[in-house]
Amino acid sequence: MTDPFGRTISYLRVSVTDRCDLRCFYCMSEDMHFLPKSDLLSLEELDRLCSAFVAKGVRKLRLTGGEPLVRRNLMSLVRSLSRHLDTGALDELTLTTNGSQLERFASELRDAGVRRINVSLDTLDPAKFREITRWGDIDKVLRGIEAARAAGLKVKINAVALKNMNEEEIPSLMEWAHGKGMDLTLIEVMPMGDIGAGRIDQYLPLSMLRARLGARYTLTDLDETSGGPARYVRVSETGGKLGLITPMTHNFCESCNRVRITCTGTIHTCLGHEDATDLRKPLRASADNDLLNAAIDRAIGLKPKGHDFVIDRRHNRPSVSRHMSVTGG
Ligand code: SAM
Ligand code: SF4
Repeated sequence: MTDPFGRTISYLRVSVTDRCDLRCFYCMSEDMHFLPKSDLLSLEELDRLCSAFVAKGVRKLRLTGGEPLVRRNLMSLVRSLSRHLDTGALDELTLTTNGSQLERFASELRDAGVRRINVSLDTLDPAKFREITRWGDIDKVLRGIEAARAAGLKVKINAVALKNMNEEEIPSLMEWAHGKGMDLTLIEVMPMGDIGAGRIDQYLPLSMLRARLGARYTLTDLDETSGGPARYVRVSETGGKLGLITPMTHNFCESCNRVRITCTGTIHTCLGHEDATDLRKPLRASADNDLLNAAIDRAIGLKPKGHDFVIDRRHNRPSVSRHMSVTGG
């Protein structure tokens, strides 16, 4: 799959549910309305959709949400998709999780061929964690991370950089993660979805954070990219890797290799655009994949050149109306 700008699409992120057991304040409003279950693709449909993308050249598949591990029977989907790892069609099957259910599922994930996972954790302070997630229990997440490590999964920690919330704590979070051999990636807040509050109070440019870290640690730029928005540095003092995802301050779109599918089967070819193509209808219209493949090709043919997120005082409203939990972060 190649888009009009010559970019090869090899990475698919799939939101398997818009629901979550947490309510992170930058991601969701407190009284989120979730989709009726009947709107969701079944696990069998998700499998068919993902497999159609694998047949079209996707080499990396990430399950996300909402919280993927709250989707009932998710493990049956993971086990079924792992057949593409066995055939060599897929290089990696992975997921992004808040970690709250990991203690229960870590071994099963590893048995199903998952080797690496991303766990989102913005703070190590139990009170702050509750404030950010509105009711989460950090101990569950920490136990989940340990269970994943014990099961042999490589864990990367993702943290959203939040002004006046965790900005002072980033060095200790990094030292904790690196001390356990886990990479840490910092993410800038993106203006996605109405969360019942403006974004300007949350937004902390990573350029500022990087400069602060640079005054305290020796940071060396690494060449590697994942085809995504992350740039990596090596931190000499810890020996660990730090990723910086800066959608607001850095343009990374020219190397974008990814598309996203929501739990209702809508494909978004750019995180920062309202562009959307429905794949559920062609998926359900016939048992073979001809209509579906044609719809996928049309959507890839419409992938925008780049995003146009803005957060400033004049644009203190969502740039993109859908929540990250719907699109799949
Ligand atoms: N529930 C899982 C989790 O938290 O990892 C997976 C879905 S969550 C939407 C994926 C990632 O998106 C998380 O790392 C989360 O912190 C991040 N995220 C959510 N809303 C965001 C926003 N408005 N800006 C930047 N990152 C956001
Ligand atoms: Fe849930 Fe993840 Fe959004 Fe937090 S960031 S509310 S854990 S989907």
